[in-house]
Amino acid sequence: MSSVSDLVGRCFRVSSDVLGLLIRTLRDDGYIAIGPRKVGESIQLEVLDSAEDLPRGWGDQQDAGTYRLVRRSDAAYFGFNLGADSWKKWLDPNRKLLWRAKREGESWEVEQAHTQVRRMAFIGVRACELAAIKIQLRVREVSRLQSNSTDTNSSALSAEVSVEAPEEPFLVGLNCSQAAATCFCASVHTGPAFASGCDLVLTEVLNDDDHYFLIQILTKRGARISSQFELQTSIADDLAHIDRQVAQVSDSQSRQLNISNPVDFFSRRLEHSHWDDVAARCLSCANCTLVCPTCFCSTVEDTSDVQNAVAERWSRWDSCFNLDFSFIHGGSLRSSTRSRYRQWLTHKLGTWHEQFGSSGCVGCGRCIAWCPVGIDLTAEVKYLSQATR
Ligand code: SF4
Ligand code: SF4
Repeated sequence: MSSVSDLVGRCFRVSSDVLGLLIRTLRDDGYIAIGPRKVGESIQLEVLDSAEDLPRGWGDQQDAGTYRLVRRSDAAYFGFNLGADSWKKWLDPNRKLLWRAKREGESWEVEQAHTQVRRMAFIGVRACELAAIKIQLRVREVSRLQSNSTDTNSSALSAEVSVEAPEEPFLVGLNCSQAAATCFCASVHTGPAFASGCDLVLTEVLNDDDHYFLIQILTKRGARISSQFELQTSIADDLAHIDRQVAQVSDSQSRQLNISNPVDFFSRRLEHSHWDDVAARCLSCANCTLVCPTCFCSTVEDTSDVQNAVAERWSRWDSCFNLDFSFIHGGSLRSSTRSRYRQWLTHKLGTWHEQFGSSGCVGCGRCIAWCPVGIDLTAEVKYLSQATR
């Protein structure tokens, strides 16, 4: 019998029933297991109690302005693509209490909010999502260093995802078995193949005769959890199968985003007439920023109860598409939809490089599917490429 650390770096076959055991083992180990669940007419990332909660047998159809769940003809556990939710809702909740003040007679007693450190395990993280998690961590680290902030939510998530620490999420990656029409991770080099950064990576294999998973064990804590499973030694073709599946997903992506010198590209196109064309369609609804796994802007709001006995300060997600977002003394800096869309795209794809050392886009395609009017950043960049004016 191999020791737990001998399992690291190896690939095994496991039966499709392993998912139930995986969720149970993670829960027994003190993790909250989080993964895809069918909620209403979409797949969302929620707490999983058992493998029964996974959206088995469901797939989806996505395109610009379109997301629809469809029944599959098979019993695949992960036969769908990304939904509107991303892991950021668990890493950086959309509302969080900063402090609360209670009136005590003539004075106020202020309580700082304490971030509850949760041991979370994310099940079914795709390669582009892992890239987004790393970007979110980098953004928070840069912000923390710049502001010397003691935001406990950020500090709990600092450092590399792969470093073993109790408060860092346990990551179970998943190799995609198909691409949505909106995916373009291959062209921005964030997927579909995993480089590193997960504890375990699953590949679902489903054919006429068989249904099983390949499990690649990448860290010691991944090995400790997997040592509870009945691991069957993989055969040489199993790793080749993973490579073939990843290549097939990559080749099937029809959308692409290629910008060779993004900062320069956008700085030479700030007055391009195409911004007006996008603005004529854009509703400034902010959907694209809310579904984007890397958008991180937040605002602060103060509330009080009707008796004026309790006051609270909350942080909540905000969007550069909101008029108030750039409000300073005298009005909003970006009063037109044109300027707000331009700000989003030029920051996301251009100046993000200067600020954080990478693009802010991982090619997940959510902003395309969830834009109510089907604005597609890959198409908009193509138009912007055509002429400078
Ligand atoms: S900009 Fe769009 S495609 Fe890129 S990461 Fe954000 S939501 Fe995904
Ligand atoms: S691009 Fe689409 S999703 Fe984004 S603000 Fe405009 S209409 Fe809304």
